[in-house]
Amino acid sequence: MSTVPVMKPTLGAEEAEAAADAVLSGWVAQGPRVAEFEAAFAARTHATHAVAVSSCTTALHLSLVVLGVGPGDEVIVPSLSFIATANAVRYVGATPVFADVDLSTAALTGKTIDQVLTSRTRAVILVHQGGVPADVDEVRARCDPLGIAVVEDAACAAGSTYRGRPVGADALLAAWSFHPRKVITTGEGGMLTTDNPEWAARLRRLREHGMSVSAAERHAAKQPVLEEYLETGFNYRMTDIQAAVGLVQLRRLEDIVSRRRELAARYRQLLAGLPAATPVGDPVYGTTNYQSMWVTLDDDFPLGRNELLAAMNEAGVSPRRGIMAAHREPAYAGHPHIDLPNTDRLTDTSLILPLFHDMTMSEQDRVVAALFDAVGGRL
Ligand SMILES: *Cc1c(COP(=O)(O)O)cnc(C)c1O
Repeated sequence: MSTVPVMKPTLGAEEAEAAADAVLSGWVAQGPRVAEFEAAFAARTHATHAVAVSSCTTALHLSLVVLGVGPGDEVIVPSLSFIATANAVRYVGATPVFADVDLSTAALTGKTIDQVLTSRTRAVILVHQGGVPADVDEVRARCDPLGIAVVEDAACAAGSTYRGRPVGADALLAAWSFHPRKVITTGEGGMLTTDNPEWAARLRRLREHGMSVSAAERHAAKQPVLEEYLETGFNYRMTDIQAAVGLVQLRRLEDIVSRRRELAARYRQLLAGLPAATPVGDPVYGTTNYQSMWVTLDDDFPLGRNELLAAMNEAGVSPRRGIMAAHREPAYAGHPHIDLPNTDRLTDTSLILPLFHDMTMSEQDRVVAALFDAVGGRL
């Protein structure tokens, strides 16, 4: 029997044809399909502007550049996140300051931010972890009056909702990922959304070497255009091949999220009989896309998380450890931080169950059986 993977992107003939069309058009770098993808993504997330980039990591980097964050500044981030969240702060020479998270949403809150606020705090990166919407209004009510910018790391959150609207609506700056581990994918890829027209224009320049005129605009112009390089930019562009795939995936987003929620609901039902374990669910103010279906084990769970992972692997299913904690990685060895009890607890005691669009009920039953079997002898 084949192993049940933790995630599998859902890509089919439509995506393949869209990529082939882009290749055959002769325009493969950033061009008309990127522009079309940006417009569609902005509409979907209720943002005025969307700027496509090469990844969510580069999106986070550029968001800190447009905010003017630099050496001497502090940016509050959860340690409990993919490491790119903290690394982006280092890219601009600023200091990432780790704050703890709420146990149920795995996100920063006004309270956890308060514990690490200083006069040097310039920004907060609020992560919608695993697709679970963070309480943005609560965090912004704390940060906005202090002039602290809240950047939303929405890498995992396409298709999640917050207070009846898409996550990212009204965001100062939101950063998105289209890595295959997320709900929709372009292979690699990212997006920035914002309602601020000056930032959007600068982001478009920054992703393209600081050029005053984009390659697409130059190509479309009737007269020769001499571009200028206004500042030190980057090459963080998305290709038209990626955008072609992204357009198809975005059209399918609704469908993909509803399938994930269906499978998650079934997991929650099947796991109801499992003692001392809590599966993630919707917070009161929004809905998750279940990018990550994690389960947190209580202290009296009959076996350790790593033991459980090993036993399930043995049975041919591939869950993953819960979300990582950056402060425990060698890259952050010696980096000062306060105690982060909820972060430690979540990273040590949670696991992410396999969940993907084409998952069958029998595959899901195998995951649940592997879990119960592992626990079986210990009850
Ligand atoms: C995946 C992820 C990223 C990085 O996204 P890439 O597109 O791979 O750069 C950043 N933040 C969070 C929370 C993520 O889950």
